[in-house]
Amino acid sequence: MNLSEVRKEIESESAVAVLERVFERIEETKEFNAYITVCRERALEHAQAADKRRENGKSLSILDGVPIAVKDNMCIEGVKTTCASKILENFVSPYTATAVEKLEAAGAVIVGKTNMDEFAMGASNENSYFGRVINPVAKDRVPGGSSGGSAVAVASKTVALALGSDTGGSIRIPAACTGTVGIKPTYGRVSRYGVVAYASSLDQVGALSNNVKDLASVLDFMCGQDPKDNTSSSLPAANFGEHLGKDIKGKIIGLPKEYYAEGLDPKCKEVIETALAKLEKEGALLKEISLPSIRYAFESYCIIANAEASSNLSRFDGICYTRRSKEAKNLTDIYSMSRGEGFGSEAKLRILLGNYVLSGDFFNDYYVQAQKVRRMIAEDFSKAFSVCDIIASPAMPGLPKPLGISESDHLSMVLSDLYAVGVNLAGLPALVQPCGKLDGLPVGLQWIGKSFEESELLGVADAAERIF
Ligand code: GLN
Repeated sequence: MNLSEVRKEIESESAVAVLERVFERIEETKEFNAYITVCRERALEHAQAADKRRENGKSLSILDGVPIAVKDNMCIEGVKTTCASKILENFVSPYTATAVEKLEAAGAVIVGKTNMDEFAMGASNENSYFGRVINPVAKDRVPGGSSGGSAVAVASKTVALALGSDTGGSIRIPAACTGTVGIKPTYGRVSRYGVVAYASSLDQVGALSNNVKDLASVLDFMCGQDPKDNTSSSLPAANFGEHLGKDIKGKIIGLPKEYYAEGLDPKCKEVIETALAKLEKEGALLKEISLPSIRYAFESYCIIANAEASSNLSRFDGICYTRRSKEAKNLTDIYSMSRGEGFGSEAKLRILLGNYVLSGDFFNDYYVQAQKVRRMIAEDFSKAFSVCDIIASPAMPGLPKPLGISESDHLSMVLSDLYAVGVNLAGLPALVQPCGKLDGLPVGLQWIGKSFEESELLGVADAAERIF
């Protein structure tokens, strides 16, 4: 299912007819648990309005009437935003996230809010108060996280497009696990206003789909400076489809040797190398590069992300937004009991770790050091881009993990993000697409682009998609 097919159906039938089929499909695929909330009435109203505009020859854009799913950490006025947490179980957003608002202004019909790891913490989508998400590609495997519901909404063909957020791989890991395509734009490219913050210096909104072109279409409408997010970039939003349809000949693809080393499953490595050889055959130039500081990316990410999370999550205190413990007898009880009952174990772990690295002398030993490493990693990437046009790496160290991994082998679940987090630390754009299969499971390839050069990134991935 892709955008142009949906478009055709809207033109030949109606947005309402297309939407009815989305709801049917959501029912048929309920076992995957991709949605937390389905916005039936709201979506129906919007689809009817889209049909009216079309009948009057006044369609707003190619997204007019197109059903889109949104991760449940993005606010939509009047709709629940739970972040897959018990603590926000009944929270109804008082306003709409800018990214969603922009898509709705282009006519998109938001069909529902997708399941995720609680507060976007996780890589398996098993840490959800609303139950884990199942991978439609292989039901005994995790779909990846934290935007697992959005990836599955696309992979199980309920929608052609879904929004996700990516702090340390949360769009790219689920894309790799489900054989879909996911983009994390440059930090600052999409407004974070109305997106519940996990780690504010790393969080970025992006999208998942079944092909590269559709990502360009959605970015065209979602980006742009937002006065409500002072980290959003003032650069004019590009024409993201600019490089689609071009070939890959002459492109210099940097292969970081640190990403093809120990830690990468040798069989997945073979699949990736076969895919890269196909690109080489079409005229791309493969070049080994080095990112010397990247070996510290994972530790640095864990420190920074958890530090920011512990601060961001302190607002959920039983007073504002959240459910309050019924047992609480005084103010201290309200805080501690509401948080104790409301947060899941992964969120609690992150809050403890984050407070730890920010307290007393640990602040200098951990947090400040991690920030220095972050700077070094960003410098590594800019040096690398002086000798190559784009970087290609594995998306994950291995195949999608078996269900239950978060409990049976927490570390290996966390390590799914090994090749993802460096990109967030450096603020760069990256895209994951399927490049082959192993034992019937998808293997993802990650493309990393230069800052704010998503058009180039999409162009290369589009060429690769045709070749693969
Ligand atoms: N899995 C990573 C984490 O739990 C990344 C999550 C994300 O990108 N939101 O921190």
